[in-house]
Amino acid sequence: MVSSLEADPSVPGPVAAPPDVEILPGMPVALGGPRGMEVTRTLPSRGRRMVGAWCFLDAYGPHNLGTSAGMRVGPHPHLGLQTVSWLVQGEILHSDSLGHRQEIRPGQLNLMTAGRGISHSEETPAEHGSVLHGVQLWVALPDADRDVSPSFDHHTDLPVLTDGGLTATVLLGDLAGAQSPARCFSPLVGADITLTAGTETHLPLRPDFEYAVLALDGQVTVAGSALSAGPLLYLGTGRSTLPLKAKGSARLLLLGGEPFSEQLVMWWNFIGRSHDDIAEARQSWAADDGRFGTVHGYAGLPIPAPAMPITRLVARGRGR
Ligand code: MN
Repeated sequence: MVSSLEADPSVPGPVAAPPDVEILPGMPVALGGPRGMEVTRTLPSRGRRMVGAWCFLDAYGPHNLGTSAGMRVGPHPHLGLQTVSWLVQGEILHSDSLGHRQEIRPGQLNLMTAGRGISHSEETPAEHGSVLHGVQLWVALPDADRDVSPSFDHHTDLPVLTDGGLTATVLLGDLAGAQSPARCFSPLVGADITLTAGTETHLPLRPDFEYAVLALDGQVTVAGSALSAGPLLYLGTGRSTLPLKAKGSARLLLLGGEPFSEQLVMWWNFIGRSHDDIAEARQSWAADDGRFGTVHGYAGLPIPAPAMPITRLVARGRGR
């Protein structure tokens, strides 16, 4: 798994790791432009674009809000996906074009189903704690559901599993029989797992799912690989259990799902199936023709769409 000789050295590829796993190192991205908050983006990575329907993963913080403005992402559109906001620490204010205005705190899930089109802003609220730490994910909608009406859900009642030193909160899908109430369009799971110091356990998995783990806090050994915050550990399919071991206390995010078989065009904040899907969405946002609605209550301008690439966008599969 040597990637350094491939075409674009700025996009990280998989790095050699123990058998059957890949470490996706991710790359730093300034959220909302050059002066924005820095995040580490591990999905999509070159050669590993998705884990189940999970197609985007930004991890940020812990950021000290005494020295950083925190999150400030102005109104922007989405298409063909769900956005998932999950916090380890702090708070974010979501405002969308359907009129929802919802603050999220740790333990709560903000889930926005873009379907055929929505726009939203996300920001650190005026009154906030001293630290911001969390993740932002996208889930691709299957072709049959990608034109659903946009919606927004705030969940405060997520199921929690406990087993010895393991506590798992199920964000989306189900884990070991615990089913999240959140709206979901393909077989998948997303769970926040904490391990107390000295925990050694096996998490039941589905062999038909592919999985990946991101460390949110502390250090954990996952299927023999030591993991701390930063990279995404891709675990592939065919596993019925996942060995987890933590010397100190640790917290991690488990992502999994049925490998996504459809080819997608992912560009900016849009997921379509063709170049024309994307070009039409970009034009709608640029022309403000009503497709993506209007976000009220954000003190700043909407984010303009970048220029379309010179070459036509091509639909691509989940992997290499
Ligand atoms: Mn967004």
